[in-house]
Amino acid sequence: MSIKDNLKQIKLTLPENVTLVAVSKTKPVSDLMEAYNAGQRIFGENKIQEMTEKYEQMPKDIEWHMIGHVQSNKVKYMAEFVSLIHGVDSFKLLKEINKQAQKHDRVIDCLLQIKIADEDSKFGMSAEDASTLLQSDEFSELQHIKIVGVMGMATFTDDLKQVENEFKLLKSTFNALKPVQTTNCRLQTISMGMSGDYQLAIECGSTMVRVGSSIFGARNYQ
Ligand SMILES: *Cc1c(COP(=O)(O)O)cnc(C)c1O
Repeated sequence: MSIKDNLKQIKLTLPENVTLVAVSKTKPVSDLMEAYNAGQRIFGENKIQEMTEKYEQMPKDIEWHMIGHVQSNKVKYMAEFVSLIHGVDSFKLLKEINKQAQKHDRVIDCLLQIKIADEDSKFGMSAEDASTLLQSDEFSELQHIKIVGVMGMATFTDDLKQVENEFKLLKSTFNALKPVQTTNCRLQTISMGMSGDYQLAIECGSTMVRVGSSIFGARNYQ
């Protein structure tokens, strides 16, 4: 099926309150344009340099989401245009995003990445650390970022029960953190679910799914 048909099929299955991020990492601009011409306006990339190159070549009404792990020293390259950073997992990174956003007179929306997987390779904070961060004085001073939700990645496994439990953990963490409402924190988004598990994620409360290969086809890593 074409990218356009894949998108249409997936959109049909998404409830109205669920946002689709088209994960276009490794794919050429021509593929992204096919999705754009089919109406898609939110794209997710996991490398800052690749996202920046695509941003420069593509129409300017696109929302670019950084879904990968972010190194502090690279935030400056995307601060001008990024619309949501999914993988914020430390105060140090948040402070750097705030600093770079200030230079562009912007407020950058961020999600706190919570570690839900049972794998050492997945990044993220514990629910407790996230709670401490959101209630700290130093956090309240950051005026150029806004925490709008949480993000998580489930363990890479065929055990759907385990994946479901991890998604439920992210939902309950979201519920626990939600009462914290300040000028730079208002939780509304739960980013969880990819091609293989987004339907399960939605059943568990996801409001934002990050779907790549089901739209663009399998990725080729050289
Ligand atoms: C690559 C990636 C996805 C999309 O994965 P698919 O299985 O191709 O849908 C989602 N989230 C993150 C963080 C990714 O890096």
